[in-house]
Amino acid sequence: MANKVIADYLDEEGCLHCGICGKRKQMKVSLMGFEHVVSCLCECEVKARQELDEKMQREEAQRQLIRENPSDFGKEDSGNGNLKMTTEATRRC
Ligand SMILES: [Zn+2]
Repeated sequence: MANKVIADYLDEEGCLHCGICGKRKQMKVSLMGFEHVVSCLCECEVKARQELDEKMQREEAQRQLIRENPSDFGKEDSGNGNLKMTTEATRRC
């Protein structure tokens, strides 16, 4: 049976598995003689979080850079920067 939608599935122990990477999204832990089902991240969820974290860190670093050196980014009319502006304008064309 071909199912186009990749769905999460339960294994024989009743733990949820990711339909994409096949890793567990739930795991059982024994605590005080009882079994508890706890949620955990599957491989693609971990990856998605890492990518999101890296993206946010890059954006934050860029914002930090602009905050620390605003003159490097917004140099417009500093009076003595005419020559620099001209060369920059030429380079941009
Ligand atoms: Zn997954």
